[in-house]
Amino acid sequence: MLDSHRSCPDGLKSTMKNLIFDRSDDVSTADLKKLYIATFGCQMNDYDSQRMAQILRNRYVLTSRPEEADLVLVNTCAIREKAENKAYSLLGRFRKLKKLRPEMVIGITGCVAQLEGGRLLHRMPFLDLVIGPLEIYRLPEILEDGRAAEKWPSVHTELDRDFSIPLVRAPLPENNPVRTFVTIMQGCDNFCTYCVVPNVRGREISRPPGDIVAEVEHVLAQGVREVILLGQNVNSYGKKNRDYPCFSGLLRAVAGVPGLERLRFTTSHPRDLTSDIMKCFREVPQLCEHLHLPVQSGSTGILKRMNRHYTRDQYLSTVDRLKSICPEIVLTTDLIVGFPGETDSDFLDTLSLLETVEFEQIFPFKYSPRPGTRAASFEDQVPLHVQNERFEEVLRVQNEIGMRRHKVLEGRKQEVLIEGPSRGDRSEITGRTRGNHVINLPGPAELAGEVVTVEIERACCHSLRGRLPGSVSLQDEGFTSVTNELY
Ligand code: SF4
Repeated sequence: MLDSHRSCPDGLKSTMKNLIFDRSDDVSTADLKKLYIATFGCQMNDYDSQRMAQILRNRYVLTSRPEEADLVLVNTCAIREKAENKAYSLLGRFRKLKKLRPEMVIGITGCVAQLEGGRLLHRMPFLDLVIGPLEIYRLPEILEDGRAAEKWPSVHTELDRDFSIPLVRAPLPENNPVRTFVTIMQGCDNFCTYCVVPNVRGREISRPPGDIVAEVEHVLAQGVREVILLGQNVNSYGKKNRDYPCFSGLLRAVAGVPGLERLRFTTSHPRDLTSDIMKCFREVPQLCEHLHLPVQSGSTGILKRMNRHYTRDQYLSTVDRLKSICPEIVLTTDLIVGFPGETDSDFLDTLSLLETVEFEQIFPFKYSPRPGTRAASFEDQVPLHVQNERFEEVLRVQNEIGMRRHKVLEGRKQEVLIEGPSRGDRSEITGRTRGNHVINLPGPAELAGEVVTVEIERACCHSLRGRLPGSVSLQDEGFTSVTNELY
């Protein structure tokens, strides 16, 4: 195995040189300006938006109303054309706000900023700032310099400089967060032929283990119960650093932080999922039995063209091995339909892989060519109407599988970490099982952050409905209150 020869590093202590923000609390919110952040894309962007709010906390307070903001940041995603277009359309709306309030500073951050750089200023002359993902930690300095020199617009998209992910010690922007991400690495070395990530986030850099542990301690001190370790390919954590642990070593180290209730990680590359990592699902009690393992296609030929470095059979044997080590494991995946050259037979391979693995949930996407990627120049692009048909078929097949998998849970009891009021119905609460199923149930909002036993009453396609044992069933008339010894 690639990583089994390495062990945990000496003392997992924070590297103070990376400490960039440790504010005192003596700034009154009345003195603060207003910051609005719109976020598109993946969890990495969510994490970056959270960091931007944290590091600007001395000067700005978050607002949900862009029209009253002094600083507007649109954190963009370039992975698919649709997300990019949505960001442009939102920015177009902000242009009108800027006309009304010319002093408003508008910035674009994230992957589109990195990919397009200064070209964005020609396309959108009202923009003040273009900031790539590796430069967001310099935001206070960039804003200060811009204001002092009255020099807008400005572009900050350096990718080649030495970069390390700083440790941010400011409070999390959200009140009483139950779960949060902690990034463990940045960038990617895999160069899948459809993906812009290596072009916009640079080559893979692992964060020092001491900083990761320090950030986990920091978020736990704020009430977080569940931590999700985040990176483009977490399984290859530490490969370039001989004195860092391998990923399984990091998992064990993080799990040992006092107060951590649950641990997850995302995203995994199937090629790098070692037996050591698989064993953690059995041996590390905090690690939840859920794995997001992107397959992208069920056809070996298409996987090769995607440069994924595994075949269909290798993926299936990885899944078999994992299920034999941890039979309770819940699997989810990403899929691309209509990749260039995908034939009907390739597509049928994908459908049959879905039936074989029985994922709990999938995140399918129609292929869209991205600038600067190899697949964008492949000549055998699949027509949109074929992509649409395949997309619908994948959803149909997966809905049946997902429903089947969820039905098995009806009547069973599950350990659920309650996250707070349900989004759809604020009178209810929502939480997650260890297998990452979202579950909605009647109950008091005060249970947020508690792990409770929930009885699954009904399976839906994408979520579950449940009740606290001892409470009145949904089916019973006159439901008024919940009685449960757990609270
Ligand atoms: S593994 Fe492939 S798809 Fe994932 S970020 Fe890296 S290049 Fe992109």
